[in-house]
Parts: sequence; structure tokens; C-alpha cells
Amino acid sequence: MATKFNKEKFKKEILDHVRNFSRKTLSDATPQELYQAVAFATRDILTDDWIETQHVYNAEAPKTLYYLSMEFLVGRALGNNLLNLGIIDQVQEVLKELNIKIDLSLIEDQEPDAGLGNGGLGRLAACFLDSLSTLSYPAYGCGIRYNYGIFKQEIKDGYQIEHPDDWLANGNPWEVKRNDNAQEVKFGGTVYSYCDENGNVHYEQKDFQSVLAIPYDMPILGYKNGFVNGLRLWDAEAPEKFVLRFFDQGAYEKAVQQQTLAKTLVEVLYPNDNHYQGKALRLKQQYFFVSATVQSAIAKFKKSNANIYDLPQKVVFQMNDTHPAIAVAELIRILIDEENLGWDDAFYITTHTCAYTNHTIMIEALETWPIELFKTLLPRVYQIIEEINRRFCIELREVHHMPENIIHDMAIVCDGQIKMAYLAIVGSFSVNGVAAIHTEILKNDLLKNFYNIYPDKFNNKTNGITQRRWLGHSNPELANLITETIGDDWYTDLTALKKLTPYAQDSAFIDAYSKIKHNNKLRLAKYIKENNNIIVNPDSIFDVQVKRLHEYKRQLMNVLNILMLYNEIKANPNGNYVPRTFIFGAKAAPGYRRAKLIIKLINSVANLINNDPDVKDYITVVFIENYCVSNAEIIIPAANVSEQISTASKEASGTSNMKFMLNGALTIGTLDGANIEIYEEVGDDNIFIFGLTCEEVLSLYKSGSYNPWDIYNHDEDINKVLKQLINGTIIHSASDLFIELYESLLNRAGDNLADPYFILKDLRPYHEAQAKVAKAYLDQKNWNKMAIINTACSGKFSSDRTIKQYAEDIWHIKPLILPKK
Ligand SMILES: *Cc1c(COP(=O)(O)O)cnc(C)c1O
Repeated sequence: MATKFNKEKFKKEILDHVRNFSRKTLSDATPQELYQAVAFATRDILTDDWIETQHVYNAEAPKTLYYLSMEFLVGRALGNNLLNLGIIDQVQEVLKELNIKIDLSLIEDQEPDAGLGNGGLGRLAACFLDSLSTLSYPAYGCGIRYNYGIFKQEIKDGYQIEHPDDWLANGNPWEVKRNDNAQEVKFGGTVYSYCDENGNVHYEQKDFQSVLAIPYDMPILGYKNGFVNGLRLWDAEAPEKFVLRFFDQGAYEKAVQQQTLAKTLVEVLYPNDNHYQGKALRLKQQYFFVSATVQSAIAKFKKSNANIYDLPQKVVFQMNDTHPAIAVAELIRILIDEENLGWDDAFYITTHTCAYTNHTIMIEALETWPIELFKTLLPRVYQIIEEINRRFCIELREVHHMPENIIHDMAIVCDGQIKMAYLAIVGSFSVNGVAAIHTEILKNDLLKNFYNIYPDKFNNKTNGITQRRWLGHSNPELANLITETIGDDWYTDLTALKKLTPYAQDSAFIDAYSKIKHNNKLRLAKYIKENNNIIVNPDSIFDVQVKRLHEYKRQLMNVLNILMLYNEIKANPNGNYVPRTFIFGAKAAPGYRRAKLIIKLINSVANLINNDPDVKDYITVVFIENYCVSNAEIIIPAANVSEQISTASKEASGTSNMKFMLNGALTIGTLDGANIEIYEEVGDDNIFIFGLTCEEVLSLYKSGSYNPWDIYNHDEDINKVLKQLINGTIIHSASDLFIELYESLLNRAGDNLADPYFILKDLRPYHEAQAKVAKAYLDQKNWNKMAIINTACSGKFSSDRTIKQYAEDIWHIKPLILPKK
């Protein structure tokens, strides 16, 4: 079970590391050097568990999950690893005995975030890894070792500036390079076919460029169970480095090209969230890590299995969105070209090995690759996709008797494009959405044709979050209070939080709980003082919207409401108002002009309000720079109000809504994604729901009957706020800066509807819901009771629950039992 901690050994490792790697004594070591030393000493402890888990894998050869994801938004590892090893107190003692003056949390702050993801999708993958190990499931996370993760955001004059995230600059103490598992991945060239003596056709790709895929494994620890899985991140290297010594012109050029390909391939994560951008390099990245993963999974499978037909009993590939959907074609390719199977067998095995998670219904986020690009880059894989499509269209026609127009709509290859979602559905045995409402929309709307022919493939798996990071690590005081009150079962069974329900009536508990919230607000206030040089009132409502900046998430609606409040106070400066601090954090995709303009608007409104003596005691607006996992861990525990205000039907699930709930923030939100399930758990009295429903939104799109001018003309307050966007109220010297936003809310432009996200439609109901929030906050006792009920009801949203459902319903994998130590 849990690892034995040897204090003296740990001390010695720290001293030795500082000495050997920094040539220093402990007292001279910088915080970064101390971090490195503590991280290596910690890695030394977990390595024995890792090796042992691997031994059990090798001995038992269990069915194994390969979770394929372009993104893993892991954040920092040290604190989480210490928590999961159960050695935080011991390490703190060691630091004290070594006379190290800086706090463990400051040492943790030295670690750069592993920011290999954009937002929710990547963070989900990271939470899943934590749950897979805690539940002892045999699994690999498989992704790309980007040299640069999600950019670092600086705010300068209110504008977002992007800086490269050189997260590997000081090395990565957690990773292990595994040269022995390298794979060759081939791009381009030409496919030749030939007939063997038995009349079978074979295919061979020639004149291709090669890249070597080299895996780096990072340990993923279960919670106090000695179980360690690997996150396998692929790096690219040029093969045959020495080929440059040949003077042959052709070989030389090819060598240079291969060098360039390897260098650029894994250089940087594409910074788009929920938005497709058809770049050739992105497709190369996808194929690179998918091919390497599928090849290595089959190689591993063959070590302990004689019969390739058993693959579906031993391997499952879960595709996190369509980014790895090419796995379907790659697996067929390997089975046909390398394992010499016929089409039918290869297709059968593949469609019983691959499974697909859909993350969005937004058209602009759906991946479609131009045939020409695809064919040039991946000629053999393209042939296979064409063949999948040809046979699929025949099936639609002959088995399902579909009319030609529907066949056209459902084709995988059509109008010069390859539709990756359709490839994923046809190539998988399972298609899941990520919240109940989202799955219903898939079945009844976006994918209804596919649901009609494959109803059994469709299923829902509502997202979750890991309570180890999002309560245990990020909110240690609350974690301790909960453990003192109801025991520590919640670490591995979040539904145990239900036992807190009676304590929502217990004054001593309420006091302790609210004290902790206050302390977390002080911690965030300190962070804001240090980073923004703004002093915030810790007794004000901390109203937080942190997530990627996207029009559908409606940060703009939040700002318009703030301006409405501002106008109310200006009109009646002596009124009674509940002080509120509006806190934003959001990165915009660097090419998403309108999102970046909204960031500028938030900062300009902050500037206006924070400097207005009439208003500044009641409203403060803060934009926290560089929203990421590590500052989310400070921001979320301090929140009173969780802003989850997406246009209904647009947010597939959301996961920050769950993190906030767990930490006792009350949700103000629409009936979208997992908000609906949060509402079901906490009931009417403990949440603030407003706005259009999914059905209403979808029917307004269909009827085309929405006209924002009706609101503009009839709601005076909204009218005033809209005019303020363009009349110099916000920035006196640049009144035209926000015209684009004003226009987008009122007028159609080309294919873009006026106010496509129904911001004006939902603004008045939102404003009213916010008034209820303010009123509710005045009754502190009741507010705290509601907050406690939110924590108590958050059990459903553990990623442990989600992972168990995937394991039992989709993957059919079983927990591995480690021998007792
Ligand atoms: C949880 C999380 C997200 C997802 O937030 P949503 O509000 O669900 O979009 C994005 N970024 C970070 C850093 C997170 O921790």
C-alpha cells in the first residue's frame, strides 16, 4: 500500500542533489534549486512503486486503456504527488530539520505548470489520469511533449500579449526518456501496390520522410495506493542523424527535410480552444502521436498475445475529441499492411477497439481536413479513409435504405473534405457526450442520422474533476475541516461529502467553514495585490468567471451587467449596495480578434470603475493575468459566486462549474452542460438559474425570429449600456474602440447573425438573477448554509465516478491488484 517514507534518506537525497547538480550547500541553494532537489527526492520514492506497477502489468497483461489526447493540462506535479503519496507532513518536517527557511508552498511555486492544453478538454484528460491511477486501472495517457505549452499571457495597457511558455527550460524532473520504445512515423511519399504469388494485393509507401517518435513517461500516482501509471508524451527526433555526412545531393536534402520536420513537429501546442484551424502542421502532430501510440500499443500487445484477433479483448483506444480520430485509419493500416489481415477483419478489430468522445456541437469546432492536404501528407492513410467511406456509403444505401441526400450528408469524405467526427463514429464502438444534455443534443440534433443507424453506440459520460487536486491540494484548510468532521473517505469516494448535509445547520461548523472561505479570499487578495496592485475588499462578494475567453461563454454579458450596476450606482450614489469584486481570468486564442477585444473591454471597464470614487467602494473589477491550473488553485477556493453563463446548448459540460461547487461557491448559470446536473443535485434553493433553455435557443436559431433591436428599443438600461460601448464613456480618448462589439450585438454581418449568442436576450434575466445573489449574500448565515450544501452535493462530479462509468460501460477494464507490501 502506501509508500514507506524514510526521512533520513529523503534528507540525504536533497543534500546530495543540491551538491551534485548545483554545486552548492543547502544554505546557498536558490528556491528553484530546492524545488529540483525536493522533486528528485520525491521521484526517487515513487519510482519503486512505478517499477512494481509495471511488473504487475507485465505479469498479468491486463486489458489496457490508451487515452489518446492532443492535450493534457496537468499543471504542477510536486504538491499533488506529495498529497497522493501521503507524505506532505513528513516532507515539511524534513524541510524544517534541514533548516530550510522557505515554505513548502513557495518551493512548489518554483515548478512551471505543465500547460500542455488549452482549457477544459485538456484539464479533463489530466483529471482522468489521476482517477485512473487512484482506481488502479491499467492505462496510459498518450500525447505530445510540446516544447512550448499554452502561451503565457501578459496584460499590457489592457491588451493580451502572448509569450512563449518555455516550460522545459530548467529540465523536467518527472519525465523519463524511453529510447527503447522509439517508433518510426512516416509522412508523404507515394503508395505502390503489388500482387504476391497468391494474388493478394499489398501496399507499400515509398520515398517518405521519417520522424522518430521518442516517448517520455511521466508518473501518474494513485491516491495512497502505490499505483503508478504513465503519461506517455512523444517527442520527435530526426532519424539517422549522421546521414548529413553523405554528399549525395538527394540524401542530403532529405536529411535536412527530416531534421526540419522533426524540429517543427512538436514545437508548440496550437492555442485554439473549441475552434478548428486547418493547418498542415497540426495534422502532422495528430498523425505523429497517434501513429506512434498505436504502433507501440500493438508491439506491447504482441509481446504477451499470439493472436491479433484478440486485440479488442486487450486494448482500447479512447479518442479525446476528433483530434486523434486518425487512429481509426492508422489501426486499419497496420492490421492490413503489417499484420496481413483482410479488410473485413481489420475493420472489425478496429471498430471494437476504438471509442470516441465528442466535446462540442459548435460547427466552427468540428474538424474537417481538405482531401488534397491529407492525401499529400498521408497517402496510405487517405486510401484507407476513402475505402471506409466507400463501404459506409454502400451500407447506408443497401442496409439502411437511406435516401441519397442523407447519404451525402453522412459521408465521411464529401465536397473535398474529410469529416473527422464521422470517421470517429463509423470507426468506433462507442460515441459519448460529456453531460446529459449534451448527449441528448448529439442524439437528437447534430448526429441524429448516426444515432438512427447506430443507437447502441451512443452513451453519456458526464465529466468530472479530481477532488485530490481541486479540494485536497488547492484548499487544504477546507479539506482538513471536512476530514475532521466526517472522516477522510471523501478522498476516494466523493459522495461521502453528503455526510456534511446536517452540518449546514451547525453553527460551529458554519463558522469554521466561513472562516476558511475568508482565509482563501485573503490568500487571493494577496495574489491580486501582488499581481495587479489592486486592493480588494475581502468582505465583498468574490464573483468569479475564469475560463477561456470565447463569445459563447459570454464574458461580454458579464461586463454589460457590471456596466448596468455601475449606472445604477452613478444614478444613486447614496443607495445601499452589496460590495462586489468581479474577478476574470481568461486567455484568448491569439488569432481570435473579438475575444481579445473583449479582454481589452474588461480591463477598460476595470479601469473606469476602480478609479471612480462614487463606485469603487461597491464594485471592483479585476482581470487576473495568465489564467492557468496553478492560479486556478488559488482563485477557485476563494470564490463566492461561480459564473457559468454560456449560451444554452454551447457548453458541452464545463468542469470549472464543478470545481467551484466543490469549494462552496454558488453558481449563477444557464441551463447548459453540467450546470443542469448541478442544479439537480443542489435543488432550486441553492443555485441561481436564469435565461434561455437549450430548446429555446435551438428553436430561435431554426425560426430566425430573434431580433436584438427589440431589446435595444424597449429596455432603457440595456440601451444605455450599449450606447456607452461607443460614446466614450469607457475610454474617453478612444470611443470607437469597441464598435465591433456593439455591432456584433445588434447587426448581422455576412454569415454572422446579430447577437448569435443571445447576450441581449439573456441580459435582463441575468441582471435580475444577480440582484438575487446580492440580496442572498446579505444573509450571511443562510449564504454559508447554501455554500455548505453545494460542497455536500458535489459527490457526483468526481472524475472517479466518471472513470468508473467509462471503465465499466465502455472500456471493460478492471482494477489491477498490486501485491501487498
Ligand atoms: C477547469 C479549467 C478549465 C475549464 O473551465 P470551464 O469553465 O469548464 O471552461 C480551463 N482552464 C483551466 C486552467 C482549468 O483548470
